[in-house]
Amino acid sequence: MIESGRHRAAESESLLELQRVNKMRRDFVANVSHELKTPATSLKLLAESLVDVMDEDPEQARFFAGQLKSETDRLAQLITDLLDLAKLESQEEVPNPRPVDVWAVVESVMLMMRPAAERKEIELATRESESCSNRRDCVIRGDETQLNSMFSNLVDNAIKYTPPGGRVEAVCEVADGEVVIHVSDTGIGIPESKLPRIFERFYRVDKARSKETGGTGLGLSIVKHTVENHGGRISVQSRPGAGTTFSVYLPRIE
Ligand code: ADP
Repeated sequence: MIESGRHRAAESESLLELQRVNKMRRDFVANVSHELKTPATSLKLLAESLVDVMDEDPEQARFFAGQLKSETDRLAQLITDLLDLAKLESQEEVPNPRPVDVWAVVESVMLMMRPAAERKEIELATRESESCSNRRDCVIRGDETQLNSMFSNLVDNAIKYTPPGGRVEAVCEVADGEVVIHVSDTGIGIPESKLPRIFERFYRVDKARSKETGGTGLGLSIVKHTVENHGGRISVQSRPGAGTTFSVYLPRIE
């Protein structure tokens, strides 16, 4: 009797889980359709406008051609992000993990991001704590390409959401069998009520600003999945107007 009660409870729990997954899938398809339709419509309108003015107004034509290019870039970025996310979601862990010096990856990301930061007059800094001085302690098992694109996403966001004159810093620490990387900025910050949602697909705190800066709203979902596939976790702390810190914890090779 008790057993059958337990059985029924387990059955209804898995039914609820199935309903939840189905709803998530429906929402995802609806979101993707909307997100793809918007740039596709803009492309069509811009191409029509370009054809209309091509002969009489070369100045205007150049403007529409420029707009066409940036909308096409946005659409291409969206498709790349969607494919990356789908791939990460279909895997539970990193296929063929290899030893990777995480701090070396972060340092090369910071170097790569320098021109973008300089364009915005943002200072980029790296700092390793004492615990990180033996580089062998910063080695984890993972995929260097995925880790590179994950930290690029975090640093790119930090630069995007920090006004000129600000500062972005990456810090390395080693603690309790983990390598911890903090990426902090002195940017606009995120209101506390919005923090729990920022890792959701397509979620943006300020849709207009995100569109302006070319975001797809998928970056942090990709980051979270990459961290989790590496057996790690991510946390965020933020104060509007003061800045944001993302902390990535990755299990290191003992
Ligand atoms: P997006 O492509 O819009 O940047 P993300 O998934 O990377 O999408 O981030 C989701 C949202 O989280 C962003 O739209 C932005 O509102 C907020 N966000 C992410 N990183 C930061 C940051 N460093 N400072 C302030 N807000 C941020």
